[in-house]
Amino acid sequence: MNSYVERVKKTLQKRDPDQPEFHQAVDEVLMTIVPAIEAHPEFEEHGILERVTEPERVVQFRVPWLDDQGKVQVNRGFRVQFNSAIGPYKGGLRFHPSVNLSVIKFLGFEQIFKNSLTGLPMGGGKGGSDFDPKGKSDFEVMKFTQSFMTELNRHIGPNTDVPAGDIGVGGREIGFLYGQYKRIKNEFTGVLTGKGLEYGGSLVRPEATGYGLVYFVREMLATKNESFKGKTVAISGSGNVAQYATKKVNELGGKVVTLSDSNGYIYDPDGVDEEKWEFVMDLKNNRRGRIKEYADKFGVEYHADKRPWEKKVDIALPSATQNEVDKNDALKLVEHGVLAVGEGANMPSTPEAIDVYLKNGILFAPAKAANAGGVATSGLEMSQNSLRLSWTFEEVDQKLDAIMKNIHKEAVTAAEKYGSPGNYMVGANIAGFLKVARAMVAQGVV
Ligand code: NDP
Repeated sequence: MNSYVERVKKTLQKRDPDQPEFHQAVDEVLMTIVPAIEAHPEFEEHGILERVTEPERVVQFRVPWLDDQGKVQVNRGFRVQFNSAIGPYKGGLRFHPSVNLSVIKFLGFEQIFKNSLTGLPMGGGKGGSDFDPKGKSDFEVMKFTQSFMTELNRHIGPNTDVPAGDIGVGGREIGFLYGQYKRIKNEFTGVLTGKGLEYGGSLVRPEATGYGLVYFVREMLATKNESFKGKTVAISGSGNVAQYATKKVNELGGKVVTLSDSNGYIYDPDGVDEEKWEFVMDLKNNRRGRIKEYADKFGVEYHADKRPWEKKVDIALPSATQNEVDKNDALKLVEHGVLAVGEGANMPSTPEAIDVYLKNGILFAPAKAANAGGVATSGLEMSQNSLRLSWTFEEVDQKLDAIMKNIHKEAVTAAEKYGSPGNYMVGANIAGFLKVARAMVAQGVV
C-alpha cells in the first residue's frame, strides 16, 4: 500500500468517523489510483489527495414547511460543493429519508471524477434532503421544494453550481425548484438541468442515464464480440434510470426480466415489452404506485422484500441505490453465469461484490463511467441554455452516444497504461482523477 494514500485515508477516518458511505467511495478511488499517484510525485507535493477529499464547501440548512394538515414539518437540506477545478459544481439533488451528510459527500466525491470523464467542463457537487416524497401530495411536494430553494438559491447559479435530479427528484420537483429560483432571483437562467422542454430543458435528458448505461455496456460487450441481442437482463429499480435502461435494452434486442422498488421485485420471463413498459411509466411517473401492481396486472412472479440478483440472467444493471448488490448477490450472479454487470445507480455494488466480479472475470462497468450519460447530457443542456438554442433529439442522442464511447475508450486506455488491462474501475478512476489533479496543480493551492 502506498504510504501517501494510507496517510490520507487515516486522516479522513479520524476526521469523520461517522461517514461510512463517504469512506467507501474514497477508498475505492484511492486504492485504484495508486499507480497514477506513484507516476506523478508532484501530486503529493501539491497535497492533491488531501484537498480532493475535502469539500470546498458544505452547506446544511433547515427546511421548514406546512403539510396538508397545516402542521409544521422540518427537514434537513444539504449542498456539498466538492470540487470546482474543472468547472462549476454540478450534481443532482436527492430527496430520500436515508439522506445524510455521509451519503451526500459520497455522491459529491464520485461526481468529481464522473464529470471529469465526460470531457465537459463541470466540477463536482451533490445535494438533497431527508424529505420523503413518497405518499406526499403534489401540494406538499411543492411547498417543501419551495422552502428548500428559498435557502439553496443563494448558494447556486449558472456559473457557480448547477444542480439536477437524482432519487426522488424528477421532472415535477425540478419544475417547482426552478419556479421558486426564478421568482426569488428574477432571472430566467440555466441554473438547474433536467428542466421541462417548455422552459429550457434538453431533449434526451430524461433518457440519458439509462440510455448512456446501455451504450456503455454495449461497448464493453463488443470487446468480447458480444451484444445485447438475445440476452436476458436483470434491472433493479423502476425509476428514471431503470425505465430508460429498459427501453434501450429492448431497442438493442435484449430482454429485461426484472424491475424492482424498495418493496420487492417482479420477474417477467417474457420480458418488459413496449406495452408493459408504458404501464410502468404511467405507474411510476403519474400514479406513483408500487411495482407489485405490475405483477398483479400481468400475472407474473412478485418477490416481496427481495432483490432481483437471485434470478439467472446474462447481464445485470443495478439501477436503484447504493450497496444493493452484496457479496452473496454477486456470487449468485456468478453461479448463474452472468456475463456483465453495469452500474446504473451510484455505488450499487459493495466492495466485496466488486471483488467477486473481478476475480471471476465478469465484465464490470463501474458507476462513474457507466452512468455518466446523465450528467453529460446535463452538460449539453447547459450548453444549449448558454447558446439559447435547442438541439434535436437525434443531435443530443448522437452526442451522448459519442461521449459514452469516448468514456469507454478512456477507461480502457488508462487501465492498460497503468497496468490493469480490462479493469474498468481502475481505468475510469485514473482517467477521471488525472484531469482534475492536473487542473488543481495548475491553479495553485486553493
Ligand atoms: P428514482 O427516484 O427515479 O428511482 C429510484 C428507484 O430506486 C425507485 O424504483 C426506488 O424505489 C428504488 N430505490 C430507491 N432507494 C431504494 C432503496 N433504499 N432500496 C431499494 N430500492 C430503492 O431515481 P433515479 O432512477 O434517478 O436514480 C437511481 C440511481 O441512479 C441512484 O443511485 C442515482 O444516484 C443514480 N443516478 C441517477 C441519475 C439520473 O440522471 N437520474 C444519474 C446518475 C446516477 P422506491 O420508489 O420504492 O423508493
